[in-house]
Parts: sequence; C-alpha cells; structure tokens
Amino acid sequence: MSTLPLAAPDFRATLESRDVDLSRRTLRTLQINLTKLCNQACLHCHVDSSPKRTEHLSPEGVERSLELLKLNPGLEILDLTGGAPELHAQFRELVEGARALGRRVIVRHNLTVTLDPHPVTQVSMEGLPEFFAAQEVELVSSLPFYEQYFTDKQRGRGVFGKSLESLRRLNEVGFGMPDTGLELTLVYNPVGAYLPPDQATLEADYRSKLRAAHGLEFNNLFAITNMPINRFADDLRRRGNYDDYLQRLVAAFNPVAASNVMCRDMISVDHRGQIYDCDFNQMLELEVSDAGSALTIFNVDFARLAEIPIQVGSHCFGCTAGSGSSCGGTTE
Ligand code: SF4
Ligand code: SF4
Repeated sequence: MSTLPLAAPDFRATLESRDVDLSRRTLRTLQINLTKLCNQACLHCHVDSSPKRTEHLSPEGVERSLELLKLNPGLEILDLTGGAPELHAQFRELVEGARALGRRVIVRHNLTVTLDPHPVTQVSMEGLPEFFAAQEVELVSSLPFYEQYFTDKQRGRGVFGKSLESLRRLNEVGFGMPDTGLELTLVYNPVGAYLPPDQATLEADYRSKLRAAHGLEFNNLFAITNMPINRFADDLRRRGNYDDYLQRLVAAFNPVAASNVMCRDMISVDHRGQIYDCDFNQMLELEVSDAGSALTIFNVDFARLAEIPIQVGSHCFGCTAGSGSSCGGTTE
C-alpha cells in the first residue's frame, strides 16, 4: 500500500523526545576505509565500490594509522573495510603492524576477493586464508542468503558459488571451526526494501542450511538493515520505494538500539585520512570538524574530539530500527 511522502524526520529530536543519550563514549575502534576499489559492485553497496574505483589510503596514512594505535592504547580494535581492503597494497603490512601492537583486527572480507583479485592492483591474494589465520584476524563476511538466487541477485552472478568456495578454504584453515579461536561472522542483509528478520532465528537457519547442503561452518551471523544511502537509495527511488522504506525505519525506532549505536565509541577514516562518526556518514561526506576545520588522522586530538557532537540525519533511523543494526549486527 502506498503512503504519503515522508517529511524528513528529525533524528536528533526523536532521540531527545525518547531521552536517548548519543554522547561519545571512550573510543575503542579505529575503522579505516582502505580503498574504494572492489572486485564486486553489489546492488546495496553504500560505499559505491566497484572495480572502477581507485581511491586508496596513502603510505603516509598507513604509517599514521599505526602511530595512532601506538599512541592510544584505548583504541583496542582496528577495523579494516573498503571496497575490498585486501586489494590495498599495504593491507598485510597494516594488519601485521596492528597485531604486533596487540590490537584486535577485524577485516570486512567479501569472500570472493580470494578467488577474484582485481587485475589492475597486482596485489596477490596468494595464501590469504593462511595469512588471516596466522594473524588471528576476525573476519566479517557478507553472504546475503544461503541460496544462490538471492545472493547472486544482490551481489552479482557467480558470487554465491565463489563465496562457498572461499568459505570452504577458510574452514580448512580453522575459521568458524570449534576450538580454533578463529572467528568467522557472516552478514545477512535484506535483498529488498524491508527490515531484517530476527537475528538468532536467521543464524540457526543459515547454520543448518549451510551445514547440510555444503558442509560449511561459521561462528555468528549479523542481520543488518540496508541503509537508505547511495546505490541502495538510488535503487529505492527508481522503484518508487524510498519514502515507504524510510517510513518503515522511522516506525521501527527502538531507543535501546539507539543508545548502542556504533558511532558512540568508534571513528571512521576515509582514504584521505579524514575522520567521520561512522562509515555511513563518511559516504554522505558528513565529516567531523572542529571550529570549521575538518579533522583528519594527521591533526586529530582525541580529547577534543570527545566534546564534538556526533552528526546525525534521517539515515540514522537505519541504525535504530527494530533490534538495531550496525557493523556489529543487532545492537539491542
Ligand atoms: S563486496 Fe562490499 S564493498 Fe564490494 S561492492 Fe559489495 S558491498 Fe560494496
Ligand atoms: S548512521 Fe552513523 S551517526 Fe547515524 S546513528 Fe548510525 S552509526 Fe551513528
């Protein structure tokens, strides 16, 4: 049923009316978008990544990121994303550097990059699963569904088959297997303009289906809401679904999820070193600034950053709908 177009909802006013605190907590996570280059060009990609993108973090940016970790012991987690972060020429150097400093390293690994490297970068994917295992990184990998049709529809033809092959290789080196400590988390996101189902139920479905049909294992499943920005927003608008979708997110606002959104204890860094409250704000170019100057990894003062309010907009309703949604799965 169609609904009236939605006036831009005011996210901050909604927080205030529900008494939700969105102040910054102690920073724990440094998330870096290493490159916009990706071997895929998925329909829902909020980064607008594709094989044609070339933007990537400079060697000075890589060096400074490691320096920030060294200088700030409270930054416990380095979270590497992209595009496909593995296609950055210094990806392995950065992972090794952070692990040598004792940090947890999360890699947003799209699975297919292992089998489908980009010819332009000349970065070898040789031994990638073994490298992940040796460094004990935590892998977070999108698999939109446990059946070929829906996965290929969202991520491109052939992606499901390659993803299964990559999962098999990860299982072989211990990821997702009992007692190895090598964490493999899968990510579900809806193929269309609807909210994800219950995460625990879906995880049980994924586990039984992937095990029975393919003999594959994983540790956890995150169910993530598609954010109404960039390529997914364009698709919603083309189909005339944008207002309905936003209205659905607003109607599902959950104050508990809102108080746990990821921007409260992380920063997101782009390929130029510029700082944002989260990956979504990065894509919307809502940079963090101090007295009119954009903050970067080269000039940031974390004590000062703590006093700068998080920038919010109507897209934030994507993080607070239902059980909540973030890079870490539901937030409730
Ligand atoms: S694999 Fe990830 S980064 Fe690459 S196009 Fe798909 S959603 Fe975007
Ligand atoms: S979109 Fe970003 S800024 Fe908005 S609530 Fe989500 S994490 Fe926070």
